[in-house]
This record gives sequence, structure tokens and C-alpha cells, in this order.
Amino acid sequence: MKQYLFTPGPTPIPSEILKEQVTELVNHRGKKYKEIYGEVVQDIKPFIGTDSDVFLLTGSGTSSMEAAVANIVSPGDNVLVIRCGFFGNRWHDICKAFGATVRTIDVEWGRAVNPRVVEQRLQETEGEPIKAVFATFVDTSTGVLSDIEELGGLLKSYGALLVVDAVSGLGAVEYKMDDWNVDVTITASQKSFMTPPGISFISLSDDAWEVCNNNQGARYYFDLRRYRAGYDTFEPPYTPAISTVFAIHKALKIMHEETPKAIFARHERLGRATRAAVTALGFQVFAMNPADVLTVVKPGDESGIDPDALRDHLARKYGVLLAGGQGPLQNRVFRIGHMGAAESFDIITAIAALEMGMADLGYPIEPGAGLAAATEILRGK
Ligand code: PMP
Repeated sequence: MKQYLFTPGPTPIPSEILKEQVTELVNHRGKKYKEIYGEVVQDIKPFIGTDSDVFLLTGSGTSSMEAAVANIVSPGDNVLVIRCGFFGNRWHDICKAFGATVRTIDVEWGRAVNPRVVEQRLQETEGEPIKAVFATFVDTSTGVLSDIEELGGLLKSYGALLVVDAVSGLGAVEYKMDDWNVDVTITASQKSFMTPPGISFISLSDDAWEVCNNNQGARYYFDLRRYRAGYDTFEPPYTPAISTVFAIHKALKIMHEETPKAIFARHERLGRATRAAVTALGFQVFAMNPADVLTVVKPGDESGIDPDALRDHLARKYGVLLAGGQGPLQNRVFRIGHMGAAESFDIITAIAALEMGMADLGYPIEPGAGLAAATEILRGK
């Protein structure tokens, strides 16, 4: 059966990108690889919104999260983690593993952090300065978009570094590392970049480099000083995932052809259409400040809809793969990814499948209501 992948990472990969992975390998210390690495970091910079160097790490998004912590945090340092979902908690766990004294701001899942609350916490801890604040651009478990721009503006005067997990969102939603005063940004290949998982990216501000250079913590594979040492000639310190680098090289060319502006507008439309459709079908959008890259969908409390049963049914009968809830949201929500190569008719497919699955399972539904709401927006109204 044909499969329709709506997971919010990995995402569907256009065939011209996929086939890059099966081309002949090159020597990663040779001219060709260096040219490609150079173009990849150049092409990804406008999406990260930085003029700083961007380093490519072999490892999924979590490896770049670990690299950020390993290079910024020394044992005993005070750090502040904003936890507003499953991935905020990952920052907490990594910082703990590296011996930091971790303070948290726990935000109710579904809501974004209020940057003023972060500022207040920094004021309260002035006696024991916070070295870095860890945040998440889009937490893929809740679908919430955080206001990194406001956060960066507020943190500036407190001397704490701002470290942002932008694995979700970056590449599909505008992100401006330099203008927003972000010190460390990490992202990965398998979501908005339409590339298989396995590589990730990290970029540091000058302030973050100063901290990195003086950091006392243990690190080896992810010691960013090793990556910087060969960066001028795009010499990687170790053997990179060459095939995946070929793939993202192609993906970035395609993305620049479309232009960042058009990509952001496309995602805005797809996000709006999906939210309108699920709302018309009687569901709730879980996020208060929803990102345009995925929609976290919650059945009404009285609806009797079992999200995992519905997902299983859609996968088995129609080959439509939605993602389930994570952590405390397990079997309370389902998630529809619409990032990367997603287009209007992907949304139509997902919503039509939802309507068919609901009808099959005898859940209350007004046939066509979701499609009507989606098409109205997808037609450009
Ligand atoms: N942060 C966010 C927001 C994510 O969505 C993910 C992946 N779902 C990660 C971090 C971890 O990335 P990976 O699974 O690539 O290690």
C-alpha cells in the first residue's frame, strides 16, 4: 500500500534529494567534499539568520543539543531551562548529565513561555548568575512556537547566553539568530530540510565562542574547537555522513530556488488550513501559539475519540501515518506534520483521511466540513 507520511520528522523526501544519497562517495578530505560542505553552510545561513560559522555534525538533532551543552556548560554552572514540552525536558536531562545546576521554568504544555517570567527569574538569581538559558523554538510535542525574538531582547542585559533548539521550525518559519540575540542555535536535517535524519548543525555567537574556549567540561567528538580548526578550508575533523550531506546540499539548492520568503508563506498557509480543518471537524488545536510546521490535534473531552485507535486505523486501512502524543500527551492527541516538502494536496489527503477514518469508526462527523475549511484557505482566500 502506498504510504503517506505525516510525521513531524522525518518528513517526506522528494526523489531528486533522495537519489543524492546513492551517488558515488567522494573523499571527505578532497576538493569536491569541501566545495559541497562550503556550499551547505553558506546556503543554510539565511535560514538560521546568521553570519557566524555553521558547523555540520554527524548525528541527529540531539547530538547538536549535546554539543551545545558540552561546549557551554562546565560542571557546577547554573543554567536555566525553559521546559514547555517533551524537548524542553531534553535540555534539562542533557544539562544534568553534564553536571550543571539546573533550574527550570515549567510552562503548562500547550502554552509558550512568557519572556517576562524568564527575566524575573534572572533577576531573582542575580546572586548566583545564570550562565545560559536553554529554550525551544518549536516544541514538536505541543506544536507551540516560542517568541525567541522577545526572549533574546530581554536576556541581553543579564549576561546569560541564549541557547535555542530549533530542530523544529527552522527552515520553514522565519528565524533570525543574529537579530534576535541568540548565542547558540542548533537544527537538524530531517524536518523542514526534506533530508534523511543523521546530520545536524550548530552555530555560535562570538560570546558563545568565548565561553566555549574557556569551558572546563569534558568533550571530545563534539568539541567544537576541533570543527573550527579546519573550517577555513572546510576540512571536517572526522568522517562525515557524506551521503546525507549530498542530500541536504541538493535540498538547500531547491529551497533557495523557491526562496525563503515563499517557503515561509507556504508553511503559513498550510498551517492555517490544517488548523481550520481540524477545528471544523470538532477537534481542538492543542497549542495556544501554534507553529505552522505541525498541528497537534486534541479530540474534545466529550467526543469519545481514541487518538491512537484512530491513528492505527488510518495507517492500516489507508497507509496514512500520523504521529502520536509524547510524554503526558500519549493517546491524548495526535500530530500532523506539514513541513518541508508539504503542499496543499498533502493537507487535503490528511484531512480526507481523517474524515474517512472518523466515519469508519463511527465517530460523529460532518462529512466534508474539514475539507471545505481547508480548501477555502488553500485556494488562497
Ligand atoms: N528537538 C526537537 C524540537 C525535536 O522535534 C527533535 C526531534 N523530534 C529533537 C530535538 C531531537 O532530534 P533528534 O531526534 O534528531 O535527535
